[in-house]
Amino acid sequence: MKIIIAGGSIAGLATALTLDCTGHDVEVYERSATPLRGQGGGVAVLRRMMAFLEQHGHYCRDMISVPTRRRRWIDRDGALTRDEPEMLPFSSWDAVYRSLCGMLPPGRIRYGELVTGFSQDDEGVDVRIGERTVRADILVAADGTASMLRTQIFPGYAPSFAGYIAWRGIVDEADFDADAIASLVENMTLHKAPGELFMAFLIPALDGSLAPGSRRFNWLWYRNEPDPEALRRHLTDRAGTVHHASIHAGQLSDESVSTLRQLAEERLPAAFAQLVLATRAPFVQAIFDALSPGFAQGRVALVGDAACTVRPHTASGTSKAAADAVSLAQALAPPATDAVQRLADWSAKRRAEVTSLLEKGPQLASVFGLGTPP
Ligand SMILES: Cc1cc2nc3c(=O)[nH]c(=O)nc-3n(C[C@H](O)[C@H](O)[C@H](O)COP(=O)(O)OP(=O)(O)OC[C@H]3O[C@@H](n4cnc5c(N)ncnc54)[C@H](O)[C@@H]3O)c2cc1C
Repeated sequence: MKIIIAGGSIAGLATALTLDCTGHDVEVYERSATPLRGQGGGVAVLRRMMAFLEQHGHYCRDMISVPTRRRRWIDRDGALTRDEPEMLPFSSWDAVYRSLCGMLPPGRIRYGELVTGFSQDDEGVDVRIGERTVRADILVAADGTASMLRTQIFPGYAPSFAGYIAWRGIVDEADFDADAIASLVENMTLHKAPGELFMAFLIPALDGSLAPGSRRFNWLWYRNEPDPEALRRHLTDRAGTVHHASIHAGQLSDESVSTLRQLAEERLPAAFAQLVLATRAPFVQAIFDALSPGFAQGRVALVGDAACTVRPHTASGTSKAAADAVSLAQALAPPATDAVQRLADWSAKRRAEVTSLLEKGPQLASVFGLGTPP
């Protein structure tokens, strides 16, 4: 089948790869004019995705990871309050993105191409891309949490704000004296205060290196934000544009950056404040819950954050996107002459599977005192 994918981030690329592995003719249309390289922070490693790709002959070692060995909680003075074993391998968004791009056959990703809508009939789907229309058998919406294609299918549905934001940042291990960061290396370190949670862990260097001294710290600072006006300010970038859910690195306004730095000095343990203060380009993400009323309609399927957006502290956004990709390719294994029925079956099954993951997020958040209780 000819399959068009709208969105060339993790879900779009993972779906393109798994569908390509199972013999479909796949094209990805990404609105960004250039590859999304060099962005993003830490992500949990995609075990199911790697297993699937290795079964199909792809080498996946590039989705390398830094292991965390312990989960350590510290108080405002930096004293250890809890310490337990933790074996969670973390990779970086960028390492996963680069390795997915590298595994796709050349020419499959078209950049600077905005998908603006679709219409479908019994035989196929006409996808509007910029000024033209391209015919396909199936359209996959991988256009993220603010999915325009989901809105076209389910116009009454909108994701709900969970009541908190995450400031985030990446900073080189090499920017610090070894002594100043010794307790943070290869551990996941956390600090909790009313209405906020800070965590930091190591991820690979931008070139994928895992060598001590070359890696990077990924930090996240979740904070309740019940005030809609303050939320709007957080999501207004340095050019004055208001974003739906996040502002990328380098785009935060000077006012936001100085508020972040001031709060870090006032509220965080010194080991964490030094990470925030040394971060050149922090970014922000508002936390949303989204569960699309369906994951397919006719010849259109939704994957990744467009289908369901889970809370980042479940460490599962990227791995869920990868699992969507694997399960969709399995559901559409050729010959898929009854594609519409298969998509409907996949939608019902996959939506039921992710619902429990979605529910885990608010439960975890309420343990940390974040957001509105479930
Ligand atoms: C640059 C970037 C960095 C990220 N970094 C992290 C991270 O460090 N850690 C983490 O856990 N998660 C990160 N995420 C989010 C993470 O990728 C998702 O939560 C998850 O992996 C599912 O991704 P997704 O592909 O469904 O959605 P997204 O990653 O949001 O991607 C949606 C893609 O669709 C494109 N798009 C949207 N509308 C259209 C359209 N109409 N036509 C064509 N293209 C369209 C967007 O440009 C984007 O590339 C990042 C996302 C991006 C885009």
